Order: sequence, then C-alpha cells, then structure tokens
Amino acid sequence: MQPIISVSNLSKVYGSGFQALKSINLDIRPGEIFALLGPNGAGKTTLISIICGIVNPSSGTVRVGGHDIISDYRAARSLIGLVPQELTTDAFETVWATVSFSRGLFGKPADPAHIERVLKALSLWDKKDNMIMTLSGGMKRRVLIAKALSHQPSVLFLDEPTAGVDVELRKGMWDVVRYLRDNGVTIILTTHYIEEAEQMADRIGVISKGELILVEDKAELMRELGQKQLTLHLQSPLEAIPAALAPYGLTIGADGHEVIYTYDTQAERTGITSLLSDLRQAGVSFRDLQTRESSLEDIFVGLLARSNARGR
Ligand code: ATP
Repeated sequence: MQPIISVSNLSKVYGSGFQALKSINLDIRPGEIFALLGPNGAGKTTLISIICGIVNPSSGTVRVGGHDIISDYRAARSLIGLVPQELTTDAFETVWATVSFSRGLFGKPADPAHIERVLKALSLWDKKDNMIMTLSGGMKRRVLIAKALSHQPSVLFLDEPTAGVDVELRKGMWDVVRYLRDNGVTIILTTHYIEEAEQMADRIGVISKGELILVEDKAELMRELGQKQLTLHLQSPLEAIPAALAPYGLTIGADGHEVIYTYDTQAERTGITSLLSDLRQAGVSFRDLQTRESSLEDIFVGLLARSNARGR
C-alpha cells in the first residue's frame, strides 16, 4: 500500500543554529493511528509543523498523498487537518461560524451537511450557536478538531491532544479519535503520555533529540511487555549464581541480596516452579519475593538511555 505521508532524510536547523531534526525517515500508512512519542523538546512539533507547511525544512523531502509539500503545497495541504497544541479560537465567534469559516479558507464550497456531521460527531451540535468563549476547555479543544476536519482532510494531526485535560475528557478525546479513524481518517498524534500511545496507537514512533529512534507496531511493543520479573530477596547474600542455576539466566541485584529471574508471561511454562525447587536444591533460601511487569515506560526509558549513550 502506498504511504499517505512519506518523509525522507528530513532535517531542520533553526535560525539559531539549533538542529531540531536529524535525517528523519518515516512512512505513514493510510488509515492508521500513529503516535509520535517523545519528551519535551524532542522535535515532535517541529516534525508535524514541517509536514503541515508551517515550518520550512532545511533538507529532505515530504510527500503527502504523493504531493511534494513545497512544490505542490496547495494539494498537499488540502489533504491535511491540523489541531494545534495551543487553544487558539476566536472567542466572539459562534461554533458554527468558526468551523464553517475554516472550510472556506481551503477554498472549498460551503457544505452545511458536512459541518453538521462533524459537529454531531464531536458532540458539539447543541453548542453550534454558542460563542466560543462560553465553552469549557474540553469543548474548545473539540472545536479545534472540528475546524481541522471542516475541509474533509484525509490526515489529521493532533499535537498533544490531551495535554492538561482531565482523565474523563482524555478518554472522551480517545473515543473521538477512534471514531475518526473508523471513518477513514489517518491520525497522527504527538504525546508525551505513554498511556495515550499505549491506548490509541496502531504504531508508535519514539523521537528523542531530533532523532527517530524507533518505529514499531504497538502489538510488537506489547509482546515485549509480556516480560515479567521475579525478584527473590535472599536470606543471605550470594556472590555468584550457582552453576546448577545457570540455565535460568538469573541476575544478582542489591549487592547479592536479590536474585532476579525474567520470564515470558505468554510462554506455556514460566519455569518458576522448577526454579524454586532448583534454588532449594542449591541451598539458596529466600525470605520474600515479588513480581513486576515491565511497562511501555520501562521500554521507553531504556530506549532513551541507549540513544543518549550513543549520542555522547
Ligand atoms: P514539546 O513536547 O515540548 O512540545 P517537541 O517535541 O514538540 O516538544 P519542538 O517544539 O519540536 O519539540 O522543539 C524541538 C527543539 O527545537 C526544542 O529544543 C526547541 O527549543 C527548538 N525550537 C523550536 N522552535 C524553534 C525556533 N523557532 N527557533 C529555535 N529553536 C526552536
């Protein structure tokens, strides 16, 4: 399948001399929800701003629906809807007017039936005649999404859609995003909430210091989440793992006071029962034990640490 967005060797050096993006390569598949995950200042906003034509790239190319974002700007831009990070709406306009006006900016003829569909999908229909300033923060955010959808884009960019939004509204926003995807819109969202990427995305890209350090199917990442750790707190410290226990790949922690066993929760056998009996045979006794699941957060932190070590 042809990618809907294709980014090749994209770099950005700001006027200050700061390199915000380093040779990014990324293809977005039509119909997917792609989450761009990264800490503050990683380059997420810069990347989507370039794709949306708000910031100029320093080198590299971007195609949207096959159209180059520079030589074929208008065609590329017409396929994109952008929901910016900051709440910028016209306080004194009505919901209906501001959303209809956005459509006009793309040179599309008025289509009240489409605007009605969008407002209904975003649960804003009963607010259509309200002035924006009278709406709650969550509603204003949905107005921004409605504006971005007004010209029927194929790709919707959401920059930190739930930053500063409470838990309930966040879940509501996720429902809206899933609804849009089910209606054929490709979604790219930036977030630094790992839970958001975990909940929403089909694929996850991790960006750190201007580099895309990982792009993977979420399901693949989740398979790694199938790993669990069993920590045994020993009665007396061990200097080395007894040879008889070598097959378990144990590691020693806390200055010899802990033995850690990593196992796969998806496997038919975890090996825990035989480990415990082999420990007894080897004369290793413990006073307590605990298990812990690795999270996407662990994977994320590990990835960033690795990429920082490489960059040094
Ligand atoms: P956040 O999650 O905080 O929004 P981000 O991943 O979106 O962060 P960007 O906004 O893309 O990050 O910024 C990436 C880096 O580029 C930051 O170090 C930022 O200070 C720098 N930067 C952004 N815009 C400019 C600019 N106009 N001039 C110089 N540097 C800039």
